[in-house]
This record gives sequence, structure tokens and C-alpha cells, in this order.
Amino acid sequence: MDKNVPFADLNLQYLNLKNEIDNAISLVIKKSAFIRGPFVEEFESNFAKLVERKHCISCANGTDALFIAMKALDIKNDDEVIVPAHSWISTSETVSMAGGKVVFCDTEKDSYNIDPNLIEEKITSKTVGIIPVHLFGQPSDMDEIVSIANKHKLWIIEDCAQAHLATYKGKQVGSFGHISTFSFYPGKNLGAMGDAGALVTDNNDIALKVTKIARHGGLKKGQHDIEGINSRMDGLQAAILSVKLKHLKNWTEIRSDLASNYLHLLKDVKSINSPKVKKQRTHVWHLFVIRHEKRNNLSTFLKENNIGHVINYPIALPFLEAYKKFKHKPADFSNAFYNQNRIISIPLFPEMTQAQQLYVISTLKKFEE
Ligand SMILES: *Cc1c(COP(=O)(O)O)cnc(C)c1O
Repeated sequence: MDKNVPFADLNLQYLNLKNEIDNAISLVIKKSAFIRGPFVEEFESNFAKLVERKHCISCANGTDALFIAMKALDIKNDDEVIVPAHSWISTSETVSMAGGKVVFCDTEKDSYNIDPNLIEEKITSKTVGIIPVHLFGQPSDMDEIVSIANKHKLWIIEDCAQAHLATYKGKQVGSFGHISTFSFYPGKNLGAMGDAGALVTDNNDIALKVTKIARHGGLKKGQHDIEGINSRMDGLQAAILSVKLKHLKNWTEIRSDLASNYLHLLKDVKSINSPKVKKQRTHVWHLFVIRHEKRNNLSTFLKENNIGHVINYPIALPFLEAYKKFKHKPADFSNAFYNQNRIISIPLFPEMTQAQQLYVISTLKKFEE
């Protein structure tokens, strides 16, 4: 039995695709197609097709994608944007970066996503948009969120950084927002070998504006219609991502099988609260997050037993030093606070062997004894 389980194994993922990836990299170098060019265009077109959107505009990373999206939606000074209280900081820091004001909304205890029942009480005359995050790979309650946004004339940016190919009522995430953003950070379900990100939309005007913002405000050399930024995916990342993209569906199926095994085999372990999938959606298991009352002891025990694990995320956004000025209290976001002290992500990656998974499960059971 393999008594050493990493949290993920990106080197093994590379080795499994070594020939294809090495060839792709050589070709980019041979053509000196480092910035934009055919490899980037090919990836944009492949990704748009895969997620069933009309436009895909690549950029430097998933954080830039969120920033560019808000700029393209004309965010103005002090416009308020509602974001979930538990996410990676990109979701909230980009609101401030773009000139807006962050308004946190508590998450649901069991889905970890923004609680749609709490959104409306956060809406003021200054609110312009909502950023649902499909956290850990499970889609948010998009029907409820879309209907609130329509009622109050707000935009939606879906943060799909953890949810490539996840579906809600048969439709892929990324199809509900005015713009949706993706990250291809190496550890994401579709990961580059460096930083990369993208925005997708069906709206032609928004697509054009996004493209301009990401490219110094213009599409032609020497022509700058507006001020923008420099945020591009490089040719090497695009070529690598085009190779990996062909495997994403298969990897997602394997993730789902591994998650089913965990759910089945941990069912009787009383101390472990396993993740719950809400109705009418597919979870793509970017992370398999369990809750445990003795989370910190469990973390030590897993470490002693050479099992990789991560806490995503140990401090919910409102309680971070960066947001101290808001003076938020645990009771303001009680579910996010409850979860931050109990969650722990255990290994789940497509290259994981059955023996590795059984070792993780038996170790978890041993901790309970
Ligand atoms: C990874 C991630 C991002 C940002 O992506 P980067 O490519 O690392 O900038 C944004 N939101 C969420 C929820 C993420 O997990």
C-alpha cells in the first residue's frame, strides 16, 4: 500500500502527457509565438467551444479576469458588489481594485456557496452586481441569484475558477453571468504550467470591451480607444492548455468517481461531515472538503501519516486583516465562521490510485478510534 499521498500530483500529470506537452512547447518556441498568436487563438476557440460560450478572451490569470470583467461592466467609484464571505481573496480584492466597494454575504453551511436568501438584505441603491463563486466545484443556486439580479437590475459575474465543466440544471456554469471568469492556475481542474486565466461571455459588445481592456485599450498596434492594462495568456501556456483541455472531461469523470468512493466509504465515520451536493447540479470536485470538530488534530494526524491536505480557506474573507476596517464580527457571517474552523481538504486528483485513496480512508478511520 502506498503510504504517502500528496495533495495533488502535477508532476505525474505532466509525465502522463509528456510527449504531447513537450512537442507543444517546442512548437511555440520554434515559431517564437510567445505573446498572442495562433496558439492563444486556438486555445480561446477550443475553450469557448468546450464551455459552450460564444466568446473566450484569455488573460494573464483568474484574478485579472475578475478585475477586467468589472471594468468592462463600467464599475464606478463606490459601486457596491456582493460577494460570498468564504472564497479565495481574488473574488473580493478585485472589487476594490476596480474601484468598487466589497459587500460580503454569508455562505450556506453545507454547500459553502453564497446563501441566496441573504442577498437581498445586502442590496442598497449603490449595489451594481453579484459575484457568485462556485466554490470547491459545486455550482451556486443560479436560479435564485439570477432572479434577484433581474429584479434589482444587477449584473452577475460568475467566478468559475474552481468549477470548469460543472453544470446547473443541465447548463454549464459560466452561462448564467453577464461575464464569467476562469483561472488556469496549475492546481485548478484545468491548469497551466504558470499563470493563465480567461473570461467568457455571449455578448459581443462585452467581449469587445473585455478584449480592449486586456490589451492596453485597443485591438490594433498604436491605437488605444481607452486605457487598459496588459493582461495576456502567453503562447506556451496556451499550447499546454490546449493539450490538457482534451483530457478535462475524462479527468472530471475520474474526480467524480473518487468523490463517490469517499462519500460511500466515509459514510459511517460519524466524526466526519462529508460534502453534500445539492439537487440538479454536478459538482466537479476541485476540492473534497470535509468538516471535523477536531480539525487541527486531524491535520496533525494526516501530516504524521504523510497525507497531503490543505485548509481552503482558514480565515473567511470578512475576518482577514485586509478587511479589518469593516469591523465584521463572527456573528455577522456565522456559517463562514463556523466552517473556517472545521474544514479540511483531503487529496482528490485524477492521478490518485485506488491504494492511495484507501490509505487516506483508513487513516481517517484510524483517527476516529
Ligand atoms: C484560483 C481562484 C481565483 C484566481 O485565480 P488566479 O489565476 O490564481 O489569479 C479566483 N477565484 C477563485 C475562487 C479561485 O479559486
